[in-house]
Amino acid sequence: MGYAQFPGGNPATDGVVILYSSVGSRKKVAGGTYVTNYDLGRTATHEIGHWMNLRHIWGDAACGNDFVGDTPLHNAANTGCPSADHRSTCTGTPLEMWMNYMDYTYDACMYMFSNGQKDRMLAAFAAGGPRASFAQ
Ligand SMILES: [Zn+2]
Repeated sequence: MGYAQFPGGNPATDGVVILYSSVGSRKKVAGGTYVTNYDLGRTATHEIGHWMNLRHIWGDAACGNDFVGDTPLHNAANTGCPSADHRSTCTGTPLEMWMNYMDYTYDACMYMFSNGQKDRMLAAFAAGGPRASFAQ
């Protein structure tokens, strides 16, 4: 449904690509096509998160590292809308932050970045950061 380039890549391919049917109000239009459960624009939020230097919350590995201190360890990507008490089997069996924009859950279930993710995004635009030129 979309992809993005992390900061520091080839400037010729830098940006975010989003499937048109994952945003907007196409569901409300007779005959409109949309991606079921992924049509509320969260794909754009997720991909722009990558562009702003965020990794998947599971760190692209079993119990991997997303380089953010306040996100819990995740086994892997989540789909659907997990129950509120969904726990990881990683060390400490933390509650998974499946409502985070950097997971793969349904759009209707996603609603947050963590403070650490916010700080990581802001750092990308700070002096010396990989996207500092955008802030000038
Ligand atoms: Zn992603």
